[in-house]
Amino acid sequence: MPVNNHIAECEAEIAGWRQDLHRRPELLYDVVETARFVTDKLQEFGCDEVLTGIGRTGVVGLIHGRGGAGGRMIGLRADMDALPIHEETGAEWASQRPGLMHACGHDGHMAMLLGAARSLAETRAFEGTVAVIFQPAEEGGAGGKAMIDDGLFERLPIEKVYGMHNLPGMPVGRFGMRHGGIMASTDEFKITVRGQGGHAALPNRTADPIVIASSIVLGLQSIVARNADPLKSLVVSVTEFNAGFAHNIIPDTAVFSGTVRALDAGHRDLAERRIREMAAGIASAYGASVEIDWDRNYPITVNDPDESDFCSQVAAEIVGADNVDPSAPPLMAGEDFSYMLEARPGAYVFIGNGDSSGLHTPTYDFADSAIAFGASYWVRLAERALGRA
Ligand SMILES: [Zn+2]
Ligand SMILES: [Zn+2]
Repeated sequence: MPVNNHIAECEAEIAGWRQDLHRRPELLYDVVETARFVTDKLQEFGCDEVLTGIGRTGVVGLIHGRGGAGGRMIGLRADMDALPIHEETGAEWASQRPGLMHACGHDGHMAMLLGAARSLAETRAFEGTVAVIFQPAEEGGAGGKAMIDDGLFERLPIEKVYGMHNLPGMPVGRFGMRHGGIMASTDEFKITVRGQGGHAALPNRTADPIVIASSIVLGLQSIVARNADPLKSLVVSVTEFNAGFAHNIIPDTAVFSGTVRALDAGHRDLAERRIREMAAGIASAYGASVEIDWDRNYPITVNDPDESDFCSQVAAEIVGADNVDPSAPPLMAGEDFSYMLEARPGAYVFIGNGDSSGLHTPTYDFADSAIAFGASYWVRLAERALGRA
């Protein structure tokens, strides 16, 4: 089964929705107009129920199969928020809001899921219920978690969840997924080194926090090189370093912060443990102390192997097995669909966005040519997961 006929007929219209959404980007939880657009569309399509305000601005549409309510329920998820980037695409549908832009393609994700929702509501060739989930605040605000905390899975008996993200560099008409970790955890740390300041010409009377913090930064580089399993992926990056205020004064403190990205829970813990040990150990060797703030942010996005295989088969029905990579390389970026995958089994897949600029850049644009593949994938996934009526 190639691209869904019904979707193919509506392709231009769905691209129109995408471009409308693109013109009006909104950030994090403030996706008020976006959520209204989605809600209006879902109601217009004849969804059996449309729930709003879940996780502040999240929206869920419920579409029952031919047998009506009851039976199994699955969740298909899209994200709604944009980014604080000033668009430079020059597209006819470019952002009308200076400094804000859909630079991660969430406009495309919404449009594809809306297209699928309309088709599913019309044909209803399945049993049970499809929940189309539109979440706010994917870009660092943990909107997926907010929807769960607001009772998403208690209010709705969703058994399995599925997500999709466009991927620049992968040709349009291709899909990729993998077993296990597909997107990394994103932990953040801030380390304050407390030494003893003084006159720059009398370093012997100080415990120079700049030298000590520098030693710690260099020491942290050995965690990936010497502690991590060479066959596993781990990133430790120090991205900010602040100390001092004059050329002749050694300050009392130096502060630096950074991020840890891991694809397995063991390495996530290993990195935290080693950073803590190394920072405290090095500081103490120099007669200083450290204060460590650790923020466990997005978890690892982990695909259930069986669900990943299932998604690979569904994608192959749309684009052919040659265009599906069932062991696609993971990304070290984070994704808050990880919270939903911690709560329910499912899988997250990549859909090719062609040779567009990279995600989060001012010249990025979602490829409308991918819409037919992504929307058809969602329809087919729902029909197969819930069995054709
Ligand atoms: Zn993003
Ligand atoms: Zn994104």
